[in-house]
Amino acid sequence: MTFTFEKSRLPRVKATQWSRIAHVLAREPLEQLMAHDLGNQASIPYDMAYAVLLALFDSRLAEAQWLIYHRCAEHPVFATSFEKGIPELPTECPECEEPAQDSEFTFDVQFRLLGAVELR
Ligand SMILES: [Zn+2]
Repeated sequence: MTFTFEKSRLPRVKATQWSRIAHVLAREPLEQLMAHDLGNQASIPYDMAYAVLLALFDSRLAEAQWLIYHRCAEHPVFATSFEKGIPELPTECPECEEPAQDSEFTFDVQFRLLGAVELR
């Protein structure tokens, strides 16, 4: 399935940047994307990549989930729906089972495109 997204929603993105973003977004659907992935692949700043992904999410062209990391592991120790807001943090890490303060966890947001996205 191919979705269309109105580029006018993000007026600060330049035409040359949109063309590189389009190249990334036209790939196989269901691709997992994080802001640093889109930023690197499309050679755009991180905050712009974040804005593009949030606008896709807001347009219901992408799903999003929080990934929560702890210092014990490279991979996320748990994930939760983005719609629910910043998640409740456990008092012990689900991975290493050590007691953990909120400040020991870090967050990222992972997006998943629901289909190929065509920019208009
Ligand atoms: Zn841990």
